[in-house]
Amino acid sequence: MAEIHPAGDPTRPIPPEVDRVAASRAAVAARRARAELKSQIAAGRRSAESVLDEGSRDPNGAAGTLRVTDFLLSIPAIGVTKMHSTLERLEISEVKRLGGLGRHQRERLRGFLRERARLSAKGRTARLTVLAGPTAVGKGTVSAYIREHYPDVLFSVSATTRAPRPGEVDGVHYFFVDDAEFDRMVEAGELLEWAVVHNRSRYGTPRRPVEEALAAGRSVLLEIDLQGARQVRASAPDSLLVFLAPPSWDELVRRLIGRGTEAPEEQQRRLETAKVELAAESEFDRTVVNVTVQDAAREVVELMNLPARA
Ligand code: 5GP
Repeated sequence: MAEIHPAGDPTRPIPPEVDRVAASRAAVAARRARAELKSQIAAGRRSAESVLDEGSRDPNGAAGTLRVTDFLLSIPAIGVTKMHSTLERLEISEVKRLGGLGRHQRERLRGFLRERARLSAKGRTARLTVLAGPTAVGKGTVSAYIREHYPDVLFSVSATTRAPRPGEVDGVHYFFVDDAEFDRMVEAGELLEWAVVHNRSRYGTPRRPVEEALAAGRSVLLEIDLQGARQVRASAPDSLLVFLAPPSWDELVRRLIGRGTEAPEEQQRRLETAKVELAAESEFDRTVVNVTVQDAAREVVELMNLPARA
C-alpha cells in the first residue's frame, strides 16, 4: 500500500500509529479540561480572573488554550451579544485564546473582569464567611496568605485550650485559655460555635467580635473545622460556607504524606478522615480548588465580596 506522507511531502516522516492515538487522546483530554474550566467559572467555583492568570502562566494548558469567546460566555450574565461587544471594545480578536493574549490585551480583560466583580459586589451586605476543608488541603496556608495580602479581611480570633506554639501570640493567633475558662465561655453562650478538633483540644469562635464586625459592615472570615462549619450553618443561615478542595485525591495524599510529620498509622487514620471530610463538600455553598495558594486566596476573597488587591 502506498504511504501517504504528511502534507504530500515524501521527505517528512509519517508519525507512528501509536503517536497519533496518543495525540488524539491528548486532544480529547484537553477538550474535557477546558469544558471543566468553563463549568467551574459558570458555577462560581473558579473566578474568571484566576483562569485568565493560569492561561498566561501556561499557554499550552487547559486555560491557555481556552478561546476568549468561550471564556467570556462561561461567565454568568454574559451572552453572545455582550461577548461580541466586549471583545470589540477591548480590541481582542475573537480567534484569540487566553494564552495568546498580548500583555495589554490581558490587562484590559483583567480590568473588565474586576470592574464587573466590583459592580456586582456593590450594595451587598457584609457577610460571615466560613473557610473549611479536609485535613492537609492547605487551609492554614491559604488563610495565612489572605492575612498577609488582604488586610481588609477581618479574621475571627478563636479561643483554644491547646498550648501556644513557638511564635504564636495570645489574642492574635488564638486566645489561649484553660479548660475552666473554655467551660465558662460555653456556658455563658459566648461562643458562636465550638468543637473538639483532632480528638485533642477544644476550639471555638467568640460570638461578640463577629457580631460587632458584621453590624459595622465588615465581612468576617472564620477558618474552622467541619463540625464548626455545620454549627455556623445552623445558627447563621445567611453565612457563606466555602469548601477548600484539593485538586485531586492523589494530590491530597501527597500533601498529607509529604508533610512527613505523622507516623504511618496516623497518616492512614488521617486519610480515612479526609475521605469522610471530602464527602462534606455538598453541604457547602461554594468550592474553591486549592491549585495555587495565591489563586485560592483570591477566589475566597472575591467570594467574600471584597475588592481584590493582588
Ligand atoms: P491548629 O491547632 O493547627 O491551629 O488548628 C487545628 C484545627 O482547628 C484547624 O483545622 C482549624 O481549622 C481548627 N479551628 C481553629 N479555630 C477553630 C474554631 O474556632 N472552631 C472550630 N470549630 N475549629 C477551629
